[in-house]
Amino acid sequence: MSKPLSDHDKKKQISVRGLAGVENVADLKTNFNRHLHFTLVKDRNVATRRDYYFALAHTVRDHLVGRWIRTQQSYYEKDPKRVYYVSLEFYMGRTLQNTMVNLALENACDEATYQLGLDMEELQEMEEDAGLGNGGLGRLAACFLDSMASLGLAAYGYGIRYEFGIFNQKIANGWQVEEADDWLRYGNPWEKARPEYMRPVHFYGRTEHHPDGVKWVDTQVVLALPYDTPVPGYRNNIVNTMRLWSAKAPCDFNLKDFNVGGYIQAVLDRNLAENISRVLYPNDNFFEGKELRLKQEYFVVAATLQDIIRRFKTSKFGSREIVRTDFSTLPDKVAIQLNDTHPALAIPELMRVLVDEEKLPWEKAWDICVKTCAYTNHTVLPEALERWPIDLFQTLLPRHLEIIYEINRRHLERIASLHPGDVDRLRRMSMIEEGPQKKVNMAHLCIVGSHAVNGVARIHSDILKATVFKDFYEMDPHKFQNKTNGITPRRWLVMCNPGLAEVIAERIGEDFIRDLDQLQKLRNFVNDEAFIRDVAKVKQENKLKFAVHLEEHYKVKINPNSMFDVQVKRIHEYKRQLLNCLHIITFYNRIKKEPNKQWTPRTIMIGGKAAPGYHTAKMIIRLITAIGEVVNNDPVVDDRLKVIFLENYRVTLAEKAIPASDLSEQISTAGTEASGTGNMKFMLNGALTIGTMDGANVEMAEEAGEDNFFIFGMRVEDVEAMDAKGYNAFEFYNRIPELKQAIDQIAGGFFSPKQPDLFKDIVNMLMHHDRFKVFADYEDYIKCQEKVSALYKKPKEWTKKVILNIAGSGKFSSDRTISQYAHEIWGVEPTLEKLAAPDELK
Ligand SMILES: *Cc1c(COP(=O)(O)O)cnc(C)c1O
Repeated sequence: MSKPLSDHDKKKQISVRGLAGVENVADLKTNFNRHLHFTLVKDRNVATRRDYYFALAHTVRDHLVGRWIRTQQSYYEKDPKRVYYVSLEFYMGRTLQNTMVNLALENACDEATYQLGLDMEELQEMEEDAGLGNGGLGRLAACFLDSMASLGLAAYGYGIRYEFGIFNQKIANGWQVEEADDWLRYGNPWEKARPEYMRPVHFYGRTEHHPDGVKWVDTQVVLALPYDTPVPGYRNNIVNTMRLWSAKAPCDFNLKDFNVGGYIQAVLDRNLAENISRVLYPNDNFFEGKELRLKQEYFVVAATLQDIIRRFKTSKFGSREIVRTDFSTLPDKVAIQLNDTHPALAIPELMRVLVDEEKLPWEKAWDICVKTCAYTNHTVLPEALERWPIDLFQTLLPRHLEIIYEINRRHLERIASLHPGDVDRLRRMSMIEEGPQKKVNMAHLCIVGSHAVNGVARIHSDILKATVFKDFYEMDPHKFQNKTNGITPRRWLVMCNPGLAEVIAERIGEDFIRDLDQLQKLRNFVNDEAFIRDVAKVKQENKLKFAVHLEEHYKVKINPNSMFDVQVKRIHEYKRQLLNCLHIITFYNRIKKEPNKQWTPRTIMIGGKAAPGYHTAKMIIRLITAIGEVVNNDPVVDDRLKVIFLENYRVTLAEKAIPASDLSEQISTAGTEASGTGNMKFMLNGALTIGTMDGANVEMAEEAGEDNFFIFGMRVEDVEAMDAKGYNAFEFYNRIPELKQAIDQIAGGFFSPKQPDLFKDIVNMLMHHDRFKVFADYEDYIKCQEKVSALYKKPKEWTKKVILNIAGSGKFSSDRTISQYAHEIWGVEPTLEKLAAPDELK
């Protein structure tokens, strides 16, 4: 009998991790040692685990360089249409493993580090997440970069190099505590500063109107210093660029005027300018009208547009270098995609450059601007829509305000000619909102200044046309599109769940990694006993591994045979973590009432960050931890129910938790979650979903088959009907005894005995002003959870549904999403063709 395989040997057998050829491994070891010596300036006697991580990172990074230079050179020479994805957030997570996956280096590096006596997984744990995003919107931008490179698009991500990303969340005595995310402390091996391409960005000042045009004068200048990060495509030798701008004060900052003796103070004050790229605003789906945020939004746009226009002007035509002066071809060469309204200032800024600097007539410039720009809407929640106070604008960006007024004047003129006398329509559609405080409506600006406006799931795009942007849809129906979100199968399957990727590859080959629709072929295996066993076994292994992490971290005993029921996403009232809490309490009460019944054991995990200023969200976290304290320490319950708050949910934790999940909670009020992308990650990783007919859940259920999806609750129509009639929480509270019991327990201090009124604000909200109608879906949710529990008792039937979900998840590849953007908005052609590999370091 052969001895059982070690973890290391098991991983080596996984073909999706690439081949570990002998030469390859020898070269990697040589280069690893070279970097440890020359780059880290250490030897094996003094090197720390972090040094080894950096040595490995530099070794892997070397394999990107030739491909990166070559890709960029090919763009310069072939001059294809460029796509610019402009976003205030890029939630990238870690880079090392992703690079190894896309370059097929994973097994070779694992073998090389193993031969050096190191554990690669331990080294990977030393990498900081690049947490330059809040949640779905920022993670979408990161998935899109992977897909754009994998589909061979000449694309760039443009954003801000925040010195501090999303805060680290600690839980202390059950409360969220924020810590600064000092992710650059040990250096970032994946970025390259490009000080030679620094660009000035102007703020404040005033405008002068001359016969030959408008001048923006007396401005304050901040420099934008670019840092480039390589974005490798999946095994196609393409490496695109994500360029993030960092704010830098000019050398003469505050030293120009008459401040004799102010030299020291002037140098200290450089911080003020450099604060622009200091920190990510930690709000998800919420608008905070702070001046510094408006500065960030203009900073990224102004610097990026200078890059775009420089690249447009100089390029090669055949063998000749040409300097373009005719801007009418800009839309043929450039597509700018605005990730929400955050970079909306691209529209007035492009107009300013074309009209004030390049001296184009307004009409010509406007035509170019509209044809170049496209806008993605990410939410219909009113509190999330950007509406900037005019006075902030007037001070910070006086010329842009003038331009917006002119855009609006022409826009209103057009509406007036289409609808004479309809004053209310003018008011509704204006970019300027009147009132005690005048405001600029950035969504209206984006719709008018773009040739395409898209929502991020079918139901969301329909809601945009029917409600929030109805008037705009009536006027320009051709602009409105849908692009259902997606996720990259490289990170969210191959990288985070190699076991599952491998059992799939054994049945249908590896092509599904580039072409996720091929997962449909798995339908042929729903009744294949061996495949069912393999899928269930991978899930069990992932659960055991995660359980080790949980037991270490949370000091709770995990039952690995319990259902892992997981809700991870930002904490928000509309996402209804409170509905999950009510189910937990109900399940707890039922166990207590009938302790000898055969309950389906569950480990319920909830994780997510609350915006630091969002009181209710922070109280929701406190409630979850309070419920956990009671439930987890009740001997009657034992290991049939555990409640764990997953601390510091971020990309890296998602990669561990999702492959270990059985049940995915996607329970927002219908009509509130634009798409969701977490839902897709679970589906692809073999969890079943309990969810409302909201966002992309609708399309996921369609692809999986409704029989394989736990759908409950009100549909959008039901929510509308209830709004019309008026939602009354008491109706449900008085009618449903288990609901009443749960609420009375929260309100009476059952979960907070030392402070009985701790949750009074939450209870008050639920009973009197719950915008998201938690109680209205309670009954159906509980019933649906009973069906989930019943199915979990039949492991084979459960796994069959899991397989049908995986088989139906192909649509939710971001490759599909990006192909649709490419064809239907950008006018560029994706390709799976490979670029020739560079000779050195293949
Ligand atoms: C995917 C992802 C999200 C988005 O999750 P939703 O459930 O769609 O809100 C948020 N945070 C992280 C870290 C993610 O990876």
